[in-house]
Amino acid sequence: MRAVFSRRRGVGTACALGILAMCLLTGGAQALPAVGDLFSSGPMPYPLPASPPYVIALDAGHGGSDTGAHSSQLEEVEACERAVDALYARLAKDDRFTPVRTRENGEGCRIKERAARAAEAKANVLLSIHFNSDPSCAQSHGFECFPTPPGRDWSENSLVLARCIAARMGGAGHRLRGADGVRFAYYSGKRKLIVDATDTRERTLQSFGILESAMSPAVLVEQGFLSNSSDRAAWTGQEGCKKAAEAYYLALCDYFGMEPQPAQS
Ligand SMILES: [Zn+2]
Repeated sequence: MRAVFSRRRGVGTACALGILAMCLLTGGAQALPAVGDLFSSGPMPYPLPASPPYVIALDAGHGGSDTGAHSSQLEEVEACERAVDALYARLAKDDRFTPVRTRENGEGCRIKERAARAAEAKANVLLSIHFNSDPSCAQSHGFECFPTPPGRDWSENSLVLARCIAARMGGAGHRLRGADGVRFAYYSGKRKLIVDATDTRERTLQSFGILESAMSPAVLVEQGFLSNSSDRAAWTGQEGCKKAAEAYYLALCDYFGMEPQPAQS
């Protein structure tokens, strides 16, 4: 099915229908775009591929000397690369997707450069995979994801994609943090402000660098807490990352309005 995208407002009809179906299934309150907005057009830094194969930019958080958060057992960067490897392999099995990496494993690369690599590949979406940590509370656990916040280019598409991802993660048995696992993040100095996605106020505060730099719809996910033993066991190892990859894959199929293909094909 052909999907049409605009820089500021559009989402594919199929995607909106998918979200509507999911909304009905989950009973969640979703901010659906108005029908009239679905095919509006606007300036674009590059034309997004409007039919398969869709280019999916996979951004493993951190890299090089920046190892991110850590637990006594695991550094975040290692888990991020494992998660990206699993999703890359899953997407590569479906010729309707072209996965690309924003950096190689082990490589240190600035955020702007990673976003530029995604743009060079004409990425339809950018997915940045991270893991949380809460050293002050070992009980903190669950999944959350952060779309490009309101008022930016591609924010509406990013929100739709984030809702697809959170719904599939919830379906895979992950606990969703906040109302439904989708939140907006901002920095006020060094303080982080997290609000649920129902708070669509446009803020000038900056969000995560990769979201601010992305030139396509973008979502940053926190796949689980390294500081929580159950999250670590369920979502950071080879099997956990494979399970998460399947959820991301299904969410991308939802977003693009495509039927999933079996993993073995
Ligand atoms: Zn991180």
